[in-house]
Amino acid sequence: MVAIDGTSASGKSTNAKMVARALGYVYVDTGAMYRTLAWHCLQKGINIHDPKAVAGVCRRWKTSLESVTEDLLHVRLLVDGYAPEKEIRSNETSAAVSHVAAVPKVRDWMKKLQQSCIQFGNLVMEGRDIGTNIFPETDFKFWLDANLEERSRRREAEGVSENLAARDQRDSQRAAAPLMVPLGAVKINNSGQTPEQTCAAILAVIRERLAQREAPRS
Ligand code: C5P
Repeated sequence: MVAIDGTSASGKSTNAKMVARALGYVYVDTGAMYRTLAWHCLQKGINIHDPKAVAGVCRRWKTSLESVTEDLLHVRLLVDGYAPEKEIRSNETSAAVSHVAAVPKVRDWMKKLQQSCIQFGNLVMEGRDIGTNIFPETDFKFWLDANLEERSRRREAEGVSENLAARDQRDSQRAAAPLMVPLGAVKINNSGQTPEQTCAAILAVIRERLAQREAPRS
């Protein structure tokens, strides 16, 4: 189980996918799960600033998890059998997501869901609280960050223009499982690095630790 946490647009998805591919593990994007709930609330006309209403939606909605092999083996969350993959990347959903993610009942619900992903095999899971709250016992925790200008440029290159600093601030300041560096995480600031360089650094740590586990004790 590999946990990759970090700030918005710090390269978590790109690197988590590359690491999962290299190790033959299953990739899980927990941000996509929170985005799916935010999208669903917007669809249903729920006030995302009303924690009770958001928690109520979360309790009632009909979801399922499936593992899919497209270019990569990954897990996705379906709502009424539908995966809103494009919709959850819109500016509107991006602006709403950190509000629904701050609701403690939502986080409890997501925690159970995300922990249950272990049914699909060895995971590379990315998010904001994987190493602190979802799988805090794993030996493989990484924290990614990059300077704000570079992170904003990366999002704009994807056609998304949003206030990343405001989202990071909301994520860091919430009471339930805030965004923070997990204890024991390897910190990587990847400003100016290529994804290949960051991925190589992550894989080197994982392989070294795996080799240490397997080495005979003298
Ligand atoms: O990673 P991504 O930008 O898709 O995450 C969207 C939002 O989902 C984050 O800004 C955060 O509010 C929330 N999130 C979270 N905990 C996670 C993953 C994402 O609170 N484990």
